[in-house]
Amino acid sequence: MERGRPLGAARRAGPPDTQQGMRRRNLSRVMHAVAAHGPLSRAAVAARIGLTRAAVSTLVDELTRAGLLEELGPERPGRVGRPGSALAVSAQGPAGVGAEVGVDHLAVCVVDLRGAVRARAGRLVDNRGRAPRPVLCDLMSLVRQVIAEAEQEGLRPAGLAIAVPGLVARDSHTVARAPNLGWRDTDIGALLPTGLPLVVDNEANFGALAELWLGTAPPADFLHVSAEIGIGAALVVDGRLLRGTRGFAGELGHVPVWPDGPKCPCGGRGCLEQYAGEEAVLRAAGLAPGTDRVGLLSTRAAEGDESVRGALREAGTALGIALTGAVNLLDPRAVILGGALSRLAPWLLPYLEAELGRRITGPGCTVAVSRLGPDGPLLGAAHAVIRSVLDDPVGVA
Ligand SMILES: [Zn+2]
Repeated sequence: MERGRPLGAARRAGPPDTQQGMRRRNLSRVMHAVAAHGPLSRAAVAARIGLTRAAVSTLVDELTRAGLLEELGPERPGRVGRPGSALAVSAQGPAGVGAEVGVDHLAVCVVDLRGAVRARAGRLVDNRGRAPRPVLCDLMSLVRQVIAEAEQEGLRPAGLAIAVPGLVARDSHTVARAPNLGWRDTDIGALLPTGLPLVVDNEANFGALAELWLGTAPPADFLHVSAEIGIGAALVVDGRLLRGTRGFAGELGHVPVWPDGPKCPCGGRGCLEQYAGEEAVLRAAGLAPGTDRVGLLSTRAAEGDESVRGALREAGTALGIALTGAVNLLDPRAVILGGALSRLAPWLLPYLEAELGRRITGPGCTVAVSRLGPDGPLLGAAHAVIRSVLDDPVGVA
């Protein structure tokens, strides 16, 4: 097995400006059109992307031969003009493998070109203080398991994308720092030689991308907050992630809320995570950390447990204070709350919104809850692979 090439490298560079490069771009435009709006006839694809029907037919033939598009048979009668065969992206062929290293869990899934989750596996495991190698070894056995299931269904993994709760150096496979795992300068590419194209990114970034690609009509500019044991954020501007110079943007969890507050694994004091992270909320509510922390908190809050509701009030207030800085600085259209903690939104949001409303200088900022919840980063990772296939279909055919 060998170390995979970086996934998406071709997309960032773009195909060269030659006839071959133009063909690859047009193949990508056909794939994107059919993936977003299919099933479509050749004529409908031609109308959508502004090429002649003959040119589209040539491109479609190539994509069909490569197993990336499939014909669904004649369009239903009653339409004007000669019936064409409807095209859809293939339910077999290339698939995206997404993986997530959580502080207390591992998860993997396989998503096909149509966006359906075709295989999934996971396990609860406390990864704090574990060395990267055994954690990645456990992750790899789950990856092998879902790949075997997917291959039995005729799918072919086109790449692996891994979400991690830490800082990932831009365009690299290196986790510079993951305070909640205790990892530093960990080159996941070297420790996890899969032979597949690989991408490693912060889980909050994948959460925001999932919201952008799969969310219910997200605005082009939004701040996505991914909250569980750790709290991360990612800013999407004009439909693109704002990564920062080194790729480390979005560390909302380590924004100080009270400068003299409790110590944080990052080395600071009084960080947001110490008030609004899952374990901080449990501590404040006087509950012991168990396996289903958010389930326990939501059950107790729904029952009217005053200590839990008080802890969630404090967490919502701390989120509002930390987000005030971000909203004043960046002026996003919306703040979207994702991650496991989004299940506690009924008890968090009123205090978060009250604090934001009191403090922000602008006219207001919508606060919404992601419907993807804790699945966001895992789905975002798998879909990052799918997007790379759509962006350069012949590169992976
Ligand atoms: Zn911190």
